[in-house]
Amino acid sequence: MTERILVVEDEPAILESVAYALRHNGFETEAAPTLEVARSLAYLADLVILDVMLPDGSGLEFLQRLRANGQRTPIIVLSSRDGESDRIAALEAGADDYVTKPFSPREVVARVRAVLRRVKPSGGATGCQLRVEPATRRAFARQSELDLTRVEFDLVSALLGTPGNVYTRSQLIESVWGDGYAITDRTVDSHIKSLRRKINEAGTSADTIETVRGVGYRVSPSSPPEPTASK
Ligand code: CA
Repeated sequence: MTERILVVEDEPAILESVAYALRHNGFETEAAPTLEVARSLAYLADLVILDVMLPDGSGLEFLQRLRANGQRTPIIVLSSRDGESDRIAALEAGADDYVTKPFSPREVVARVRAVLRRVKPSGGATGCQLRVEPATRRAFARQSELDLTRVEFDLVSALLGTPGNVYTRSQLIESVWGDGYAITDRTVDSHIKSLRRKINEAGTSADTIETVRGVGYRVSPSSPPEPTASK
């Protein structure tokens, strides 16, 4: 499967050289010149390359927020300074790696490969009943493809950020709708309900999406136990 890399960078020359090198090496790329654009694309990417200084804010704060929301998408920070404290700040904000400008596009590609190799064993939701293909926006329950609305697809994608993690309704609202939308918890619940119905109709247990009382929702990281005849 082709991995999709989101490049968040406002300098067109850097953006284009990184994106070109990635495409040349078989990756799919998407570009975000601002954090606002990045916000809606970040959790659908397999990896994000993130500049620190962006026109609408700090890349590091954006990164911290993603991590606080439970998003574990690998992120490589493009740091413009070579100070030790900047590199430490990037790692402490939750970056998986960083490269210091000026860098060669080949170096970025090598780092991307290394990070993807490192995260893959745990990143793949083995045993999880649900999976999404961000590039094609297709979702599956076991082998059956689900016919989802945009919101339902984005919800599943957000929940699959880390299977097993509990996501609060406000985290889901921020991931799916972003800031500034007046979405109520009840709206989230009704989309989850419809999602469960579709999962169930596809022959998979609706409990694959679990309600964690008083907290939110999580996707069961492994198959729920088969019903037993022993009692
Ligand atoms: Ca910049």
